[in-house]
Amino acid sequence: MSPVLAPFAAPFAEPAGSPIRELFPYLSRPGMISLAGGYPSPSLFDAEGLALAAQQAMAQGQSALQYGATEGLAELREALALQARERGMQAAAADVLVTTGSQQAFDLLVRVLVEPGDTVLVEVPAYPATLQALRLAQARILPIPMDEHGLQTDALAQLLAALPAQQRPKLLYTVPNFSNPRGTLLAAERREALVGLALEYGFRVVEDDPYGELRFDAPDGAPQAMPATVRATGERLAAAGSNPVVYLSSLSKTVAPALRVGWMLADAPLLRRCTVAKQTADLCTSPLTQSIAACYLHSGRYPATVQRARREYQRRMQALVQGLSEGEDSGIRCSRPAGGMFVWAELDRRIDPQKLFDAAVAQGVIYVPGKAFYPAAPDLHTLRMSFAAPEVPQIAQAVERLRTAAQQAAG
Ligand code: PMP
Repeated sequence: MSPVLAPFAAPFAEPAGSPIRELFPYLSRPGMISLAGGYPSPSLFDAEGLALAAQQAMAQGQSALQYGATEGLAELREALALQARERGMQAAAADVLVTTGSQQAFDLLVRVLVEPGDTVLVEVPAYPATLQALRLAQARILPIPMDEHGLQTDALAQLLAALPAQQRPKLLYTVPNFSNPRGTLLAAERREALVGLALEYGFRVVEDDPYGELRFDAPDGAPQAMPATVRATGERLAAAGSNPVVYLSSLSKTVAPALRVGWMLADAPLLRRCTVAKQTADLCTSPLTQSIAACYLHSGRYPATVQRARREYQRRMQALVQGLSEGEDSGIRCSRPAGGMFVWAELDRRIDPQKLFDAAVAQGVIYVPGKAFYPAAPDLHTLRMSFAAPEVPQIAQAVERLRTAAQQAAG
């Protein structure tokens, strides 16, 4: 008789996979235009600059091929601390932990801070991988609603006032700059209110910022002025050494996701614990790609690369939003983001969301249905489109296909 194997750990007994990765099979259909994944445009990768950086990394001898410190490569931590200072935050190399994508940074934070049953606040609609990490940690996820100016701090204040003391939250997760999926920029006064509430109720704020660099120009062509980061707001409002905000960022959207270089800026006790958690996750982020990233940031090519991406993504966003908003009513009402990679849309109630998805796939265009972004009680008449990967002519074609699909799905 064969022995019965021990069961999987409870959170993995019947785990739901990533709702976005489950769309992958559709992508290989011939002629499919994808507005689904948050993939940077391949035409914007600085392949030449990265090839030079890779040569330099290899020319440094064996260090790029050896294991490295868990905290990250010194030169890279230095360069990332400089980015943090350019974004208005105080930071030295020692305040930065390099992670294997910013996805790992969040995963480490959850391991270090969240126990089963702990309350975690999440802006909704939310980045699905965040919901997934919190579900696996068996957190109690409480949604905070958003509007066109980001998470609603009034609703947050009301919710906090009504929560019993034993349900006080450990964390709040937000993407203040050009959120995934809603594309919103959190208003400056809400950043202050958020930090105020974090200090009053004693929870940490995770400020996930992979998209802030991808800000579009203002309508008059001038560079867009950005509100202070939530972490910088925390520096200003909290007593020295008690900033409740952890800042996460990444080179995935601006340089290349394949580097798998993300980073965390946090207080020393939290950084130390995340470093210990990372020791058991992967020992260290690949020293080879860290070294390529450091050489690339030192090469001086990064600002021009980011500027090219801003311009191009703005053109693509306009093609998508104008295509669906101008002329005959498409029944798909789009947000108009001021940066990032995503347009959020609400469907006219006469459109059946499932019929729209099926008709869109049949027409040769795919997006992410909104339900992926809700921990519970989804608004099914919503969807997310990424304008980053397809070129403008493809976006124009995608718009035509979506318009046809919306007509077919209207009851
Ligand atoms: N946070 C958000 C909001 C994202 O959209 C993404 C990528 N889709 C990530 C984190 C993870 O990015 P990476 O691990 O590549 O840095």
